[in-house]
Order: sequence, then C-alpha cells, then structure tokens
Amino acid sequence: MSRESFDLDIRIDPERQRVAKQRAREGRRLMLLELGVAAALVLGFLASGASRRLKAALLGAGLASPWLLVGAYLGLVLVGYALAMAPLGWWSGYVRAHHYGLSTQTLRLWLADEAKSLALSLVFGIAAGEVIYWLLRTYPDTWWIWGSTFLAAASVLLGFVAPVLILPLFNTLTPLDDEELVARIRRLAERTGRRVAGVYTIDLSARTTAANAMFMGLGRTQRIALGDTLYSQYTPDEIETIVAHELGHQVHHDLYQGLALQTALLVGALYLAHLFLRWGVARFGFAGPGDVAALPLVALAVGLFSLVTMPLANAHSRWRERLADRFSLQATGNGAALARAMTRLANQNLSEIDPPRWAVWLLYSHPPLAERIALGSEAPA
Ligand SMILES: [Zn+2]
Repeated sequence: MSRESFDLDIRIDPERQRVAKQRAREGRRLMLLELGVAAALVLGFLASGASRRLKAALLGAGLASPWLLVGAYLGLVLVGYALAMAPLGWWSGYVRAHHYGLSTQTLRLWLADEAKSLALSLVFGIAAGEVIYWLLRTYPDTWWIWGSTFLAAASVLLGFVAPVLILPLFNTLTPLDDEELVARIRRLAERTGRRVAGVYTIDLSARTTAANAMFMGLGRTQRIALGDTLYSQYTPDEIETIVAHELGHQVHHDLYQGLALQTALLVGALYLAHLFLRWGVARFGFAGPGDVAALPLVALAVGLFSLVTMPLANAHSRWRERLADRFSLQATGNGAALARAMTRLANQNLSEIDPPRWAVWLLYSHPPLAERIALGSEAPA
C-alpha cells in the first residue's frame, strides 16, 4: 500500500463539520424511526394474533415436534423481520452513506453483505433459540438463569472464533507488512511488557472511505486490525498512537470486561422476559411460557431492557475508551500525534466532534472527538 503525503498542520475542517452535524442529526432521527418501526412490528405481530396463527399454521403443516416447530417459527420470523426492516436499512446503510461520500460499496456487495448477515442470524438465532426454548419447556421458573449462562458462554466462544471464522466472510485481514511500523509497535509492546496481539490491516476500503481500527478476538485469536483507509492516510506517528490505543484495550482486558457487563445485562434482560411471559401468557392466551408464539413478549422485554440500559453500557464503554486513550498517551508520549490522528478521523469520517451532551450520554460508545483531540493537544510534550 502506498501512502499519500501528509499535512502535519491538520485542522478541523469547518465545512465538513457543518455536514457532519447535519448527518448526525439525521442519523439520530433515523434511529428513532427504526426503533419505532421495530416496536410497531413486534407489537402488531403479538396483538393482532398473527404470531398465534403462524404457529397454528406450522402445526397444521405437521410440525408437531417442538424442536421442528421452534426452528421453523424462528426461521420464518427472522426472515420476515429482516425483509420488513430492509427498506430502512437500505436507506440508512446504502443511500445515505453514498450521499455523504462515505460508501464505496456497490449495490451488489451491499446485497451480498445483507444476505450473509441474514444467513448468520438464522444459524445463530435458531441454534440459540432452540436451546432457550428447550430451557423454557424444561425449567419454566428458572430458565432465565440457565439461558443467560448459556448465552454468556456462547458469546465467549463467538469472541474466540469471530476473527477467524466470521470476519473472513466479509473482510480480509493481512499481517502488517511495514518494517518501520512493525519495529515501532514492537518497541511499544516491550514497554507494556506483554505478549502483544498481532497487527493486521483490514480491507475496509471495499465498503467505506471512513477510517477505523479495532481490537478483536479473545485469547489466541486476539489481534489489532488497522483499516487500509487509515493505514494509507495517517503518518507512522499517528498510526502508532492508534495502535497504542488498541493495545490499551488489550492490556486493560476490555473485551473480557465488556463480556462481563454484557452477561450481567443479559441476566436482567432474560429476567424481565420471564416477568413479561408470566404476565402475558394468560393475557394473550398462550399455552405456557414455552409456547413459541409468545416470542414477541420475549423480544419486547429484551428490546426494552437494552434500550433502558443503553446509557449504562455506553458510559462503561466511554470510560474504557478514555483509559485506552490515556494508555496511548503514556506509551507513545506523543500527544500531538494523537490529536492529529483524531482530527483526521473527524474530517475523514464526517464525525461530529462536539455532539449535544444528551446524545453523548445516550448513544456514544466513545468520548466526543473534541474531547479526545484536547486530551492529545493539551498533554505535556
Ligand atoms: Zn477504542
């Protein structure tokens, strides 16, 4: 990959910020609309009796075994939901992304990604659903404890295999082929005193013009991936601060922390589903909590719980991101490069650097870029 020449006196582009603000406002409205449509779909499916009629039709088609019934019901519901949400997804993920010049995706690639995502959600959704419904039939009072334990274990397993089995369905990871950067990263790693995850580049440019870097995997599949959209447009100093930020996530065990929080939230979500089922089974005339036609009640409980706890999960994430930024400052001692990298990210990704407080509190998994830029530029040189 060849790098372009770099402007070291990079500033926030006011015109890009104006567009970024408009894009952020639209994005928030669109998110609200998507939430409203999803809630209306699930409520309508429940209250109209459509869920019960779907189950009756599947029973009528001879699917008497609960395993076959649950599998067929979940498959049809997942496909139906994906199709119903597809127009909004196309608008926000394809049309708008192109409108703002952030997408390089062809319609064909977008459709292929959607089809693969749906196939994955069918495989994982039906597998997890079969286990949860078996638990619901077998332990109607304590299923939510075993269910959340099972889902937590499944998330750990998924965390291990995702970088090697799932990510390659969409992207290609290539070991970083850059002697200078590899040497710098090795020096960084020596300062942390750890066996450090491998560094790769990832072909984000097939889909987007936006830059990103990520830390992924658990145990032996841990790795740092630098988007080619970042690698080709940032100076080695700047990339070093970003790699150091990702190393911070590794050193602070942030993926394990995230899994622990997710597990706690899962217990809460499934307990609320348990309460919804206890209330709703009689109200809507279902056969019992293990009746698959009562699934909309579970979806409503889990959706409501996730929505209410979203600020908490985001606050936790922003805290870990701040720690990773501080780790990067300490490890590289180069606040100016960190500030430049964050400024480039804002300009390139059309990111609003100073979103409204309430939006940060509700929706932001990372601190606003203005804060991250200030952290770098105010650090003692
Ligand atoms: Zn991070």
